[in-house]
Amino acid sequence: MSRIGVFICHCGENIGATVDCEKVAAAAAKIPGVVHSVDYKYMCSDPGQNMIKEAIREKNLTGVVVGACSPRMHEPTFRRACEEAGLNPFLCEMANIREHCSWVHEKGDPTTEKAIDLVRVIVEKVRRNKPLVPIKVPVTKTALVLGGGIAGIQAALDIANAGHKVIMVERSPSIGGHMSQLSETFPTLDCSQCILTPRMVEVARHANITLHTYSEIESIEGFIGNFKVKIRKKARSIDMKACTGCGLCSQKCPTRKIPSEFDAGLGTRPAIYVPFPQAVPNKPVIDRLNCTYYLKGKCRLCEKVCPTQAIRFDQEDEIVEADIGAVVLATGFEIKHGDFFPEYGFGKFKDVIDGMQFERLASASGPTLGEIRRPSDGKKPETVVFIACAGSRDPAKGIEYCSKICCMYTAKHAMLYRHKVHGGNAYIFYMDIRAGGKMYEEFVRRAIEEDGVKYVRGRVSRVYEREGKLIVQGADTLLGAQPVEIEADMVVLATAAVANDGAEELAQKMHVSYDAHKFFAEAHPKLKPVETNTAGIFLAGACQAPKDIPESVAQASGAASKVGALFSQDELTREPVIAVVNRSAPPLYSTCVGCFLCQAACPYQAIEREEIRTRDGKLIKTVAKVNPGLCQGCGTCVAVCRTKAIDLQGFSNEQVFAEVMALLDRSEPDAGI
Ligand code: SF4
Ligand code: SF4
Ligand code: SF4
Ligand code: SF4
Repeated sequence: MSRIGVFICHCGENIGATVDCEKVAAAAAKIPGVVHSVDYKYMCSDPGQNMIKEAIREKNLTGVVVGACSPRMHEPTFRRACEEAGLNPFLCEMANIREHCSWVHEKGDPTTEKAIDLVRVIVEKVRRNKPLVPIKVPVTKTALVLGGGIAGIQAALDIANAGHKVIMVERSPSIGGHMSQLSETFPTLDCSQCILTPRMVEVARHANITLHTYSEIESIEGFIGNFKVKIRKKARSIDMKACTGCGLCSQKCPTRKIPSEFDAGLGTRPAIYVPFPQAVPNKPVIDRLNCTYYLKGKCRLCEKVCPTQAIRFDQEDEIVEADIGAVVLATGFEIKHGDFFPEYGFGKFKDVIDGMQFERLASASGPTLGEIRRPSDGKKPETVVFIACAGSRDPAKGIEYCSKICCMYTAKHAMLYRHKVHGGNAYIFYMDIRAGGKMYEEFVRRAIEEDGVKYVRGRVSRVYEREGKLIVQGADTLLGAQPVEIEADMVVLATAAVANDGAEELAQKMHVSYDAHKFFAEAHPKLKPVETNTAGIFLAGACQAPKDIPESVAQASGAASKVGALFSQDELTREPVIAVVNRSAPPLYSTCVGCFLCQAACPYQAIEREEIRTRDGKLIKTVAKVNPGLCQGCGTCVAVCRTKAIDLQGFSNEQVFAEVMALLDRSEPDAGI
């Protein structure tokens, strides 16, 4: 027979001010099987926990129900207390009479009645709980860092410096990400490359880091501590060991007019190229889509001039397999461009450019060697209009969110322009200035007060050309929406930061959630900002949402510390709330009929096939089997199984039905348990 103890918490005034806790405890005492029922002001406090421990020992309890807050908050606290008193922790459950009752209802009898119902329901569940044993899984202490921008670099270095192996995978030919394209960084105006390149070199040289550039994830399987990953190393057409990075091939390649991705289309590159001078690795790649040999079967000039015979036209993609224990997703973001802004003339007028193109103009390694020049004719622009929020915070464009970095980089751009073009006029159209960061407000103020940048509050309605000038038409909302028209030589759009190309496909491959804008979703916006819903996969940087460099670096270190905490253990202990397929004696063996609807429904690929054979090897039937390492206890398989062959430990069909019956206040079929 069950001997259940019920402990009702007032949670200070949180529950006590709305629910009559004494009455709940008194009502619970009358539920069959309850042998002890009390209420207390703070059940999670040490005295509260001691009350539970003493009752378990003195009353020989077989189950505990704590009527208090959400199990998300204190279930581990109470389960630990039970374990310390010698009771299996999975025989303790919480009835949530705070979030589900006192916080959402007025004070009064109906609220107290509801609390009693909630407690009665959980008593019926606990009565059917079985002692469970936590699952132990080993940990492979190698991390996969996906993405070689600043967030990935920081995470990789932190993990590697803690003594763990790291495999970094970057899809571009070099690591560095967007930060390597930037001129200066706000709010300090220090050279982006100067602070980034030492870190890139450190990644390449670190004994604990294996770097795969020009590579992508092919597949990933497994679970926290035990993932298996396949990496596709795309053919660079170069023997990386033989190549010395001398650059002769790029100098001689006759195909030279390909728009440079690194220069955001403002410069050109050859078909065999190193993306930028400080690239890591500093070895070329052949762009097969533009190489004359791959297109027409002729040329091979690079092969002729290469002093080390490093060109490999017949190189094929290579699949590398690795065992890893954790993943840091740091795949970054993109700047929205293309024909997204027909009203602003982007794509129509050469001198309407986006923020990344301005970065390349302002960068000493850019196509104009840091001189601000108009893309159309190479002249210095005398007036530049910067348009903030170009696409962001604009439901009409499908992007409701704030891109977060644009206010700051637009102030930086205007400032850099004024530094480089003396006497030039810089206007910024803005909606609001969002400068929430250390020294950010001061930076914007400096742009206005010291560098003479003129801010116009209002939206730009359109940009058009008149007599060789770009006419920016808008309204100044600080002057009662008075129409404003500015004649400009160049217009710079602070376009929205959006999720990377292929983010959705990658998220599906990695089994992590993503939001409506395809940014990867954190497990909890406040309490688990670097975890994903898949244990062992963490987030760093702008793949989660738009972020600036300090935030990306901080989050990367946060993700690295989570990986470090995971790798500090040789074995992981997981909650045994997992699905199990029933087994019975021959001739049935299991009610599973092998339809594998569960396998198709399982979002974590946790269902496997198991063949039941006779001793002499004859196949009797194929049934489902749950991989306990992969199962996340979501219960989807239980819902789809038509033969009730799968059940969830801790949330069995029997328990759930008993809870429903208790809620309906109907006597449950097996009240004698
Ligand atoms: Fe350039 Fe291709 Fe010719 Fe080599 S074969 S030199 S990469 S065009
Ligand atoms: Fe130099 Fe040959 Fe390498 Fe090109 S492929 S950088 S020519 S060693
Ligand atoms: Fe089908 Fe159920 Fe067996 Fe899965 S457990 S294969 S759903 S019968
Ligand atoms: Fe898969 Fe969820 Fe069933 Fe586990 S409980 S096997 S994760 S569907």
